[in-house]
Amino acid sequence: MLRNFPLRPLLNGERLQTLTQCTINNTVTPQALSDRCPCKTRPPILAVDDNIFNIVALQTVLEYDFNLQSEKALNGLEALAKVQERAKDVAEYPCICGKEDPDSNFSVIFMDCNMPIMDGFMGTARIKEYLGDEKMKKMVIVALTAYTGEQFKEKCLMSGMNGYLTKPISAGQLRAFLREHTKHVQ
Ligand SMILES: [Mg+2]
Repeated sequence: MLRNFPLRPLLNGERLQTLTQCTINNTVTPQALSDRCPCKTRPPILAVDDNIFNIVALQTVLEYDFNLQSEKALNGLEALAKVQERAKDVAEYPCICGKEDPDSNFSVIFMDCNMPIMDGFMGTARIKEYLGDEKMKKMVIVALTAYTGEQFKEKCLMSGMNGYLTKPISAGQLRAFLREHTKHVQ
């Protein structure tokens, strides 16, 4: 029996632990259950930059051109905290519709390099250390920076980033990147 099952969309941040215990009866279709799955409240992308305008620009393109929701962080330390928060959330409120891997976290992190408090290189290294090699295979961290030198690129890859994009990034470049590295864009 379904108990306490609200027949309305989830409010932002609302959690339904009871959902994980419920069984489907004739009144709730698998589609309705899937629409209310905790995994639907977890955006797949994290945008990290100390410049809020860069974040808003990226989030706008992601949302309007690709229908992708994202979270934000203003430095490497905040990014690490977001990753830790996500891991805890996935463990506490597991996906019940089968579309989310239990080991998953953000699938893509766009990481600025130069940021106060903790830069993108250290942020990436700390995230990598926290998640471990297996979980990192399911995440793509890409540098999004204004620098273009080969040495800088090398430094990004050395810190554990998977790729490198230069700002300002166009919707076309973003499409090519998301298509190559994720399942979010065909
Ligand atoms: Mg910066």
